[in-house]
Amino acid sequence: MSSTEKSERLLELSKKVMPGGVNSPVRAFKSVGGIPRFIERGEGAYLVDVDGNRYLDFCCSWGPLILGHADADVVAAVKQQVDKGMTYGASTELECQMAEFIVGSIDAVEKVRFVSSGTEAVMSAIRLARGFTRRDLILKFDGCYHGHSDHLLVSAGSGLVTFGQPSSAGVPDAMTGQTAVLPLDDDAALEKFFAEHGDRLAAAIIEGIPANNGLLVQRHDFVRLLRSLTEKHGALMIFDEVITGFRVGMGGAAAYYGISPDLLTYGKIIGGGMPVGAFGGRADVMNLLSPDGPVYQAGTLSGNPVAMVAGLTTLKKLADGRIHSKLEQKNRKFVSEVTSQLDSSAINIAGVASMFWIVFQRDLPRSAEAISKDGISHYNRMHSKVLDGGLYMPPSGYEVCFISAAHTDEMLTDAAAKLASLIREEAHEWS
Ligand code: PMP
Repeated sequence: MSSTEKSERLLELSKKVMPGGVNSPVRAFKSVGGIPRFIERGEGAYLVDVDGNRYLDFCCSWGPLILGHADADVVAAVKQQVDKGMTYGASTELECQMAEFIVGSIDAVEKVRFVSSGTEAVMSAIRLARGFTRRDLILKFDGCYHGHSDHLLVSAGSGLVTFGQPSSAGVPDAMTGQTAVLPLDDDAALEKFFAEHGDRLAAAIIEGIPANNGLLVQRHDFVRLLRSLTEKHGALMIFDEVITGFRVGMGGAAAYYGISPDLLTYGKIIGGGMPVGAFGGRADVMNLLSPDGPVYQAGTLSGNPVAMVAGLTTLKKLADGRIHSKLEQKNRKFVSEVTSQLDSSAINIAGVASMFWIVFQRDLPRSAEAISKDGISHYNRMHSKVLDGGLYMPPSGYEVCFISAAHTDEMLTDAAAKLASLIREEAHEWS
């Protein structure tokens, strides 16, 4: 086993000064056990930890790094901007170029506003939808994550619609009381909800392709039904493309399904590795934002020039679609190389664009309820071995894996063989 001495020492120190030793909970490896690696640097498709171990990175900072670590063009653009200052608190040409680029790429986005995280983007889009419709109720789906703003931290019940039980301490019932939760992939529950509550709904929010609780690829019909019901009842449809934006092709998941949501939220890739979020959509809705309209929204570092240049450089490299199509091919090949070496009655891999998710169950789930908890335990148990084998996979069975343009066919073929053998070992040990 590789040495993790320095990571262990840093973990002990971190725990003394930061809750759980981390700044975002999943990094603590609570679900999978083992030592969270402290990272010293990223190089293309690899992460190198403080003990000098190298890992092929399938986490890619949870999605932003579609070009891999420290892409030379992104780094050069950032360095150039840093020399000119890191923030001005006034408008720049870069923001305008970035907004033009996004508006030019996404049919449904007529105007856009930049913020500093996906959470902030969603929180602001929800406020805007409520301001536009003058309604309070929002609908989300069990198995979709939209950041940690109060009104979205709600628990789901089983099956039918539930209203507002906070899923975190510190969130008052009053904050989630206007958030309804429905299961994914259930047309009948959706129709019933709209028949009963549709006329008081401000917005329904859904992840473009749900990818925070497994990769729960939805039927096109389900997403289109949501589009038509929101339209019919005068509610807005918010498409959360924080993961899927500029990952599932230039048009994101909206283009994948061929629909036009009213508002869309972005993050991750559009910051090229820097902290950025954005929300955008119909001009008549966006125009309600301050300073033109009554819906307040602001940010000291919003549209930050270093973040804008990192994002814009990334997006320009993606613009001709070649990177996306290569990534899709590589991902498909990787998924089939792993699955062909395994018993398909017990294991499956969901793959879309450059994302994949390993499940220890035969059929791919489309709803949170359909995910096998035993399957998740299988993944969690084998995680340490996978890491020791040089593959940095997300530290929870519910998280999806990403590949980047820096992942070569050779790297992926080697990784597929290694992963398949570790999965076989795990299946053997627990059968
Ligand atoms: N929405 C989605 C779909 C996400 O995947 C995430 C983050 N994983 C968020 C919102 C929140 O983004 P952030 O972590 O940047 O606040």
